[in-house]
Amino acid sequence: MDPGKLNVVAMLKQAGLRVTPQREAILQYLVDTGGHATVEEIYQGVQPCFPHMSVSTVYNTVKHLAQVGLIKEIHVGDGPSRFDMNVRPHHHLICRKCGILFDFYIDEPPRFHLPPEAQGFQIEDYHVEVQGICPACRAASGE
Ligand code: ZN
Ligand code: MN
Repeated sequence: MDPGKLNVVAMLKQAGLRVTPQREAILQYLVDTGGHATVEEIYQGVQPCFPHMSVSTVYNTVKHLAQVGLIKEIHVGDGPSRFDMNVRPHHHLICRKCGILFDFYIDEPPRFHLPPEAQGFQIEDYHVEVQGICPACRAASGE
């Protein structure tokens, strides 16, 4: 039996969700592709096995999975929301050539230098988006 598949079922159960073929397929797609997928990518990815699954089913399912904390909805760049398998606090490197995303971490606590007028601002969450060129794109362009 496929251990990845078992894992996804366990994740759904642990979150107190009923295991449905749609949830299983969508979560499995995210596991297989390493997360960071858009609704459109997930929709395309599950089409071969679930030709009748609509974009709105994918959308509603990922929204629900994010709500229960199994995945995290992230906004990087100008593109559509992506759904991240990594629910630990983390940040992203984004390649401006190929668009690949990498997770990275910042030592906590970070040192924020707030402007005087924002002193006392209660920071609840932050996300750092670092743009650049990934190693593969650099190698390809001979940089
Ligand atoms: Zn790249
Ligand atoms: Mn991530």
